[in-house]
Amino acid sequence: MNCLACTRALDNTARLCPTCTRGLDVRLADLPRQYLLLGLAENLQRRRSGDRGPVAVVRDAPMPLSEAALTLRAEGGIVTVLEEWRAAMQDARGWGPPAIGGPCARRVRDAARGLRMSLEWIAAEWDAAGDLSHEVRDLAARCRAVTDPADPEQQSRLLGHCVVVWEDGTACGADVRLPHGAPIAQCRRCQTTYPSATWLALRTGQPEPTDTAGTGVAA
Ligand SMILES: [Zn+2]
Ligand SMILES: [Zn+2]
Repeated sequence: MNCLACTRALDNTARLCPTCTRGLDVRLADLPRQYLLLGLAENLQRRRSGDRGPVAVVRDAPMPLSEAALTLRAEGGIVTVLEEWRAAMQDARGWGPPAIGGPCARRVRDAARGLRMSLEWIAAEWDAAGDLSHEVRDLAARCRAVTDPADPEQQSRLLGHCVVVWEDGTACGADVRLPHGAPIAQCRRCQTTYPSATWLALRTGQPEPTDTAGTGVAA
């Protein structure tokens, strides 16, 4: 069985590998905070001059991002994605639909918390765990693109590890990252380039890196 999120081979019957499980947990835990930060981003855009105060935590964002913030905070955005996944999870477990209500910020918090409380089951048994992981990862990335545009994670995506083999037989193994919007990825250490046709192979079927440069492929 392979991890449904990163396709890495697993030696058990789980649906998600430990790295993807942890990533999902961290993102779910952070989304309520992102929701609040997006509200600050909106306010910041409205009051572009003078008093920055606590909203300075949201780094200077270009103007169109306020629209992204608005979209993410509206019905159909964060709250809807999380509530739909929580309802689908409860349904899959044979539970009734979750109670929904209150201000949007609380609904986001409740939905994220409900999913996290079932994380163990999701990672171990749920066939939709991969889709959930991907959607939450995309959602978190869209949030961070507004709330933290200088985040290096936003500027490059980890595709896998370099497969170049040195003369002594060890693999390069360094991170291969795709710069935001770029068509070709590159190894950070040996500068080998990886066009899109090789990305899938980078994520799957490659040996574990032989040094400690790797940090896992489930970015
Ligand atoms: Zn995984
Ligand atoms: Zn390399």
